[in-house]
Amino acid sequence: MPVPGGLLDWRDSSHFRWDAPCTLCRTPTPLRSHAGEPVHKACAEAWLADHPVEARLGRFVSDPQPKRRDDNGHA
Ligand SMILES: [Zn+2]
Repeated sequence: MPVPGGLLDWRDSSHFRWDAPCTLCRTPTPLRSHAGEPVHKACAEAWLADHPVEARLGRFVSDPQPKRRDDNGHA
């Protein structure tokens, strides 16, 4: 669930492809959303802030966070 005004975590290399026009500002970006939409991370974050209702549909979401390993193995 995206947090309004929160920052996206798109560190995974799958977000970086060739330059294509951003669907929001129309200038080239190598970034892709999880759905393969060319979009700047900053544009996606601005869109989430401006569209809190649509944001809940999951158009732009952060990468899944790795599970914390420190919580295991201490039993
Ligand atoms: Zn853009």
